[in-house]
Amino acid sequence: MRQRHKPWADDYLKEKKHIVLENPGVHKGEWKKVFGNENPIHVEIGSGKGQFITGMAKQYPDINFVGIEVAKSIIVSTVQKVDEEALDNIRLLNEDASDMLALFAENEVEQVYLNFSDPWPKNRHEKRRLTYKSFLEQYRNILVDSGQIVLKTDNRGLFEYSLVSFSEYGMHLMEVNLDLHAIGDETNVKTEYEEKFSSQGHVIYRCRAKF
Ligand code: SAH
Repeated sequence: MRQRHKPWADDYLKEKKHIVLENPGVHKGEWKKVFGNENPIHVEIGSGKGQFITGMAKQYPDINFVGIEVAKSIIVSTVQKVDEEALDNIRLLNEDASDMLALFAENEVEQVYLNFSDPWPKNRHEKRRLTYKSFLEQYRNILVDSGQIVLKTDNRGLFEYSLVSFSEYGMHLMEVNLDLHAIGDETNVKTEYEEKFSSQGHVIYRCRAKF
């Protein structure tokens, strides 16, 4: 996702630290307390400008959402949306998601969303793909037994890779959809990339997998 330099971002994020949590590791195992209720926790990795997570939070007020986004200049757009719409079932982390075990305890999460994750097409960058086995190991740890990974992408290479990676890990595929928009799923909340790429004629793939 394109980043513009936003010199005001640092101050803005400090001002909104009830939304973008500082020292996120301290909430490991305590996320229900953060939200002040017992609702399930869903995590989006690479939440971008926040169209998906804010749309989901409105559609599912009884689910708590945590968005993880490494780029400061991008996460600020999500913070603005959460703030303007006063969504109390979202918290954000301006972090690299490479160490999920530092952020969540075992069985703390019910669903992980990977939307239009960076495909890292070169073989030598395989380990950076968010569906590489080292990431699956972390998701397995933080997800409840029935927990799912939901992946959407327009990138055929990443989609194929992820299906193989899930399968090699012994996961069960609950859904493999090769043209999400063709089925007219009214509950589907589109991401920014999803809108952009489908308007350019790309098909959107989705799969759901569980351990
Ligand atoms: N999900 C959004 C954005 C997709 S672009 C959409 O579908 O529109 C991928 C996003 O993931 C970028 O914003 C990028 O900064 C973020 N990202 C990539 N690797 C990440 C990581 N390891 N941890 C957290 N965010 C990451």
